[in-house]
Amino acid sequence: MKRETIEVAETMYDVIVVGGGTAGWVAALSAARQGKEVLLLERKGYLGGVLGSGLAIYGFHDVNHKQVVKGYAHELVERLQAVGGSDGYELLELWHASMVAVNPALVKAIIIEMLHEAGISIVLYSQVVHVVTEGTRLEGVVVQRKSGRGHYKGKRFVDASGDAVLAYLAGAPTVQSDELQPPSLVLRIENVDVHELREHLVAHPDAYVNWRMLPGHNVTAEFLRHSVKFLTSSLCSSRHCRKPGSSSSCTRLGKVYPSGEGSLRRGSTM
Ligand SMILES: Cc1cc2nc3c(=O)[nH]c(=O)nc-3n(C[C@H](O)[C@H](O)[C@H](O)COP(=O)(O)OP(=O)(O)OC[C@H]3O[C@@H](n4cnc5c(N)ncnc54)[C@H](O)[C@@H]3O)c2cc1C
Repeated sequence: MKRETIEVAETMYDVIVVGGGTAGWVAALSAARQGKEVLLLERKGYLGGVLGSGLAIYGFHDVNHKQVVKGYAHELVERLQAVGGSDGYELLELWHASMVAVNPALVKAIIIEMLHEAGISIVLYSQVVHVVTEGTRLEGVVVQRKSGRGHYKGKRFVDASGDAVLAYLAGAPTVQSDELQPPSLVLRIENVDVHELREHLVAHPDAYVNWRMLPGHNVTAEFLRHSVKFLTSSLCSSRHCRKPGSSSSCTRLGKVYPSGEGSLRRGSTM
């Protein structure tokens, strides 16, 4: 049997962020833009976490449709728009004040691009499985990857694992609620003429009276008119997906990574 060895990295990082999801990539970017040497550890092969699954992004506007959230999230939206990965903010009348439908492949690409620009060290396929402590002080983390284990040392740590993995491994008290959110994004469809679908839904509400979206929400013409954008939000992630027969905006990845560094070839579709 092969003996397990742990490869110890030389660098003492100012900040080590565990988890490259919604919270993690923003925490890493914030620290790096303040001049810190940052390491981001992610167990999966991409960054973005749940944000990279194709969920539309909500919460930028208040009930009066005034934009109240900007910052890195707004920067992401602007950069996505620039490469055809989103049409930007769409104002809504029900449930959410606005939404931003996004192309998940481009979300992942843009996040990596922003972090590279900031000089952040990113290590993918690396799951934090142990911590190294000195008394009550956290000194480092141990990751498991295909080639073996690695030890990274840091001065500050951010637990952005989504479920407090770092805190748990370090022995901090953690709790798990009995009430967990049920899955809500079940599937994502492309190549749909969303404008025609929306017009159809609003014009023929009777065909959908048996839809039961949420307890207390019966499908009426009024309900469909107000919620049709929200209901169809995961069908469109850019103007390129909205026309039947058109290729998805993933073809644009060739423009972001012209030398073919992206995972999708130029001209490929999702
Ligand atoms: C179906 C669904 C719909 C949602 N809809 C909305 C919505 O409309 N609006 C909204 O605001 N929120 C929504 N949410 C909630 C939102 O997605 C989450 O609150 C948010 O993504 C949490 O971000 P996070 O960075 O904390 O966790 P995550 O996005 O889960 O990221 C955690 C990251 O840490 C990595 N990781 C975990 N453990 C380790 C480890 N040991 N080592 C290394 N890496 C590790 C994971 O691989 C992941 O990439 C929804 C969630 C779901 C599931």
